[in-house]
Amino acid sequence: MVAGLTTRTIVGLEIHVQLATRTKLFCGCALEFGAEANSRTCPVCLGLPGSLPVMNRAAFEASVRFALAMNCKIAAYTKWDRKSYYYPDLPKNYQISQYDLPLGYEGHCDIDAEAGGSKRIRIRRAHLEEDAGKNLHDVPGCSLVDLNRTGTPLLEIVTEPDIETAQDAFEFCTGLQKLAVYLGVSEASMQKGHMRFEPNINVEISRGGDVYRTPISEVKNLNSFRAVRDAIEYESKRQVQDWVADENYVFGKAANENRGWNADKQMTEFQRSKEAAHDYRYFPDPDLMPVTTSTAWVEEVRSGLPEAPTVRRDRLVSSFGLTPADAELIVADRGDADLFDAAIHGDKKLAKRMTSLMLGAAKKLANDRELTVSTVLPNAKCWQQLVRMVEDGMVNASAGERLLLEAMEGDASDVDFEQMAKDHNLIQVQDVGQMAAWVEQVFKENAGAVQDALSNPKKAKAAPGFLTGKVMQVSGGIADPKVVGQLIAAKIKEMQAG
Ligand SMILES: [Zn+2]
Repeated sequence: MVAGLTTRTIVGLEIHVQLATRTKLFCGCALEFGAEANSRTCPVCLGLPGSLPVMNRAAFEASVRFALAMNCKIAAYTKWDRKSYYYPDLPKNYQISQYDLPLGYEGHCDIDAEAGGSKRIRIRRAHLEEDAGKNLHDVPGCSLVDLNRTGTPLLEIVTEPDIETAQDAFEFCTGLQKLAVYLGVSEASMQKGHMRFEPNINVEISRGGDVYRTPISEVKNLNSFRAVRDAIEYESKRQVQDWVADENYVFGKAANENRGWNADKQMTEFQRSKEAAHDYRYFPDPDLMPVTTSTAWVEEVRSGLPEAPTVRRDRLVSSFGLTPADAELIVADRGDADLFDAAIHGDKKLAKRMTSLMLGAAKKLANDRELTVSTVLPNAKCWQQLVRMVEDGMVNASAGERLLLEAMEGDASDVDFEQMAKDHNLIQVQDVGQMAAWVEQVFKENAGAVQDALSNPKKAKAAPGFLTGKVMQVSGGIADPKVVGQLIAAKIKEMQAG
C-alpha cells in the first residue's frame, strides 16, 4: 500500500472445465486419462480432410445443466464456429467453438465474500468448445504430439469483472469445482487438469480526486486454486508499483499483457503484449448443424438439477442448527449429503446425532481409505436405525460409534444395528437401581477421587467426570452416562450436606 493512494483490484475469470462425457465432443473416441499416446484418435479428431464431425448430445446437455446451475439464460438458437489458429497440437488448424452465440449467458453465482456476507459474481457467458492436443517436450532434441486430448469437450465460463480480492477468486473457483462435481458434469480433478483458470487482472488507483486504471494482465493457464490466488495477489501489488514508477502505465496508454505464473519464484512473468486483437477469422462451421433448444426441454433439464451445495449448506444450518463448518463438511460430498438427508428425514434431533456420528470416527475411517462415509456405508435405513437407537438412549453415544465403526470395517451393506448391539451386550441399562449400585461400588473403590470431589478445590471440578468414567468401565459401557452423572452429583451433594 502506497501512502495517499487507495486501490481496488478488478478481476474477471475465464475458466475451462473438462466435461465428464464418455466420448469426445465431435467423434466417438473414448475420453481416457493416461491412455497410450494417440491411441484414442480417429479421422475426425485427427483433422483428416473429408471427415465429418457430429455433436455429442451428452456434452451439450451437461453444459446446459452447468449453465442453468449458474443461473444462466439458455440460448434458443446456438451454432458452432471455427476459430483459426496454427499449432502442432491442432491438426485441423482451427478449433470448433462458439463465438457470438454462447449456449449460456447472463448468469450469476453467489460466494461467501472475504469481507463478509454474500457477493454476487455475474457470469457473462458459458460456451462449449473442443480442446487441442498436447505437445510433449520430454525427449531431448525433438517435440512429440499426443492427440488423445483433441476434441475433449470443454465448457468455457467467463465472469464479469466483479471479483475484487484474491480470496474471493479462490472462493469462486473452489465453489465452481464443487458445483461441477455435484452436477455430475465433470470430475473437476485438479490433478488430471480438468480445470484451467485465466484471471484478467487490473487495478483502479485513486489519488486525490483522480482515478487511474492499470492495463489488464491476463495470467494464462493456471491449474490450481492456489496459483489463482497467488497470481492475483501478486499482480494487484505489481501493477500499483509499476504505476508509481511510471504514471504512463495506465489503461489505454500501456498495452494489455499476457503473463505466466512462476510458482517457484512466486511471481508472474511477461509473455507478450496484446497490442492488436488477434484475428481468429471466426466463421460458422459449415459441417455442423446449428443447435436449437425448446423451452420445454430446458425446463426439463432445470427440474433435474440437484440443490446447489451452498444452498444445501445454508439449509442444514438454518433448518437443523448445524454449525456452518459441520454443514460444509457434510455437503462437501454429494453422496454424504444425500445420505444425511435420507437418514434424518427432516428430524432436527436426529440431525445432531447424525452429524456427530458421520463426522467423528466414521469420517476418519473413510478418509484413511480415501473414500467417503457414504461409499463405505451407503444404506440410509441402517444409519437411521443407529441414529434413533442413540437418540432414544437404547445405546449410548460411544457404543453407537463403536457399532458404526464395526459395520464400516466389515463389508456389510445391510446391517441390523439393534441385533448387533444385543450381540455385543451394548444395550444401555435403563435400570436406575442397577446404576446406583455401580455408583456405590465405584465410590468405595475410589475414595481418593471422592475426597477430591468433596474437598479439593483444585480437583473438585474434574472428579465427577473421572467417577463417571469409572462407572462406565464397571458397567462394561452400557450404563447411561447422563443418568450416572446425575446420580454422582446427587450423591456428592448428599455427602457434603451430611
Ligand atoms: Zn476421434
